[in-house]
Amino acid sequence: KESGRHQIRAFDVALRDRATGRARALLDLRRALIDEEFELVYQPQVSAGTGVVVGFEALLRWNHPTSGLVSPGDFISVAEETGLIVPIGAGVLRAACTAATSWPEDIRVAVNVSQVQLRSSRYVESVRQTLEEVNLAPERLEIEVTESLVIDDADRDVLVQLSALGIAIAMDDFGTGFSSVASLSRLPLDRLKIDRAFVAPLDADPASSRFAVLRAVIAIAKSLGLDTVAEGVETERQRAMVTECGCDVIQGYLEGVPIRAAEIPAYLHRHPGARAGEV
Ligand code: C2E
Ligand code: MG
Ligand code: MG
Ligand code: MG
Repeated sequence: KESGRHQIRAFDVALRDRATGRARALLDLRRALIDEEFELVYQPQVSAGTGVVVGFEALLRWNHPTSGLVSPGDFISVAEETGLIVPIGAGVLRAACTAATSWPEDIRVAVNVSQVQLRSSRYVESVRQTLEEVNLAPERLEIEVTESLVIDDADRDVLVQLSALGIAIAMDDFGTGFSSVASLSRLPLDRLKIDRAFVAPLDADPASSRFAVLRAVIAIAKSLGLDTVAEGVETERQRAMVTECGCDVIQGYLEGVPIRAAEIPAYLHRHPGARAGEV
């Protein structure tokens, strides 16, 4: 009984500390929004066959005054739980679309969107308005929704409305979450982003079974009329194998790490089009 009570006390302390941690994180995020500590970096997406740049994915970074550069994995969930992801995400969309207006017209911008944003009031209207204000054609925007979420009928309706505006919809992190092939076919998708978890093992020897799985996933995507993007391609071998499997687009450190908007013109200058010898 003694120790039982002791355990409860320890548990209380842990809970309280966690609550204080959350509260502090919330204040910190709120301040960050006001002080404009968020920044976007952009990772290139290139055509597997030709090496031509087809898009950039906007990835959020937090320049924290004392912690330095903080990755989204460390703050997105708090931002979602507190609803702060809605104003943060609105800023991300505006900044990413504004950046894209200065890129060549055949290059898209992909923006990650949280389910909390999809479910916020008048979301579709706010996206439409942002595109209009910054003067970006809807066809140049791609919205990424993550597959680790259960997408219900209301979410689906929002995606249908975004798609009707001309915005492309990508299913992110495919293979890590809940979606079945049946659920994929009921969503208005343009692209499937195959999670890094499928790509990384291709370097293992022998990779043949992994290769077969990847090939099957890409075949399913094709049969649904979807483009495929391989995430997390880090080596030449991985690039060769995903290309061999019929993957359309490659994104990963091999083709480029995320860079600042100001560095994009120089990146495009170094990657003018078809890779040498592959024209
Ligand atoms: P994601 O959308 O799947 O983005 C890809 C992540 O993989 C990025 O991490 C990217 O830096 C990393 N990555 C890219 N290429 C490679 C590679 O070759 N190897 C390895 N090991 N990693 C690679 P990051 O930027 O830390 O973002 C993590 C996640 O945070 C994103 O995963 C996305 O789900 C979320 N996120 C990022 N920006 C936003 C945002 O603006 N809004 C929302 N709601 N979520 C965001
Ligand atoms: Mg993404
Ligand atoms: Mg992803
Ligand atoms: Mg991923």
